[in-house]
Amino acid sequence: MNYFIYDIDGTLYDFDKGERNSEGKTKSYDESDFKKDLFQNVRSFFISKLNYSEEAVDALFRKMDAEGDKKFSVFVQKNHGVSRGDYFNYVWDLDPSKYVSPNENLNRIFDTTKNNLIISNAPRIWASRVLEVLGIEEYFSSGNLFTGELEICKPKPEIFEMAVEYFKTEPTKCYSIGDQEDTDLLPANKLKMKTIMVRNKSKDHTPTHEIDSINELLERLF
Ligand SMILES: [Mg+2]
Repeated sequence: MNYFIYDIDGTLYDFDKGERNSEGKTKSYDESDFKKDLFQNVRSFFISKLNYSEEAVDALFRKMDAEGDKKFSVFVQKNHGVSRGDYFNYVWDLDPSKYVSPNENLNRIFDTTKNNLIISNAPRIWASRVLEVLGIEEYFSSGNLFTGELEICKPKPEIFEMAVEYFKTEPTKCYSIGDQEDTDLLPANKLKMKTIMVRNKSKDHTPTHEIDSINELLERLF
């Protein structure tokens, strides 16, 4: 028996409703309006709620980027005493129907892979709305939706160890499926899980499979 750990954004759906970039490929996270809108909200949170200047926000973005730190929610909690929940509710208040198209194939995929778990660094307010737009919320209603509120998040291998514990299995029987190698696949690979790279090319490890879209998953696996 195999176990399947899915990322959400850029993995279960193509960014910006599958819009193409100049090369005719689906957009990456960095190319997406989704990321642009999300970071506009981050910027506006720091300016309107925490009285940062535009320049101070730019400096902070550069610093977080250089340190590879993606946890703004932890930063605001530690440095400004803002609860992560308040931060999430403000920044992630986006309408997923602007970025996400329903995909009927997903039902067949989750019915087939059966042992399904999501690990997302996005908060629950966003993850649950996306699952609803995708029409797959019933597959992830039994504790098998790990979201950004957890203290431990990707790329820490511990979050993948929690997945192994959830499934009561061994890492070698798990597949991690995602569009970002550094967060979704490398820590899983470190634990000897199998990995499936979606859309992007891997640079730092050899994934078990590379696919252009989640729609190719079943034909590749079975
Ligand atoms: Mg992703």
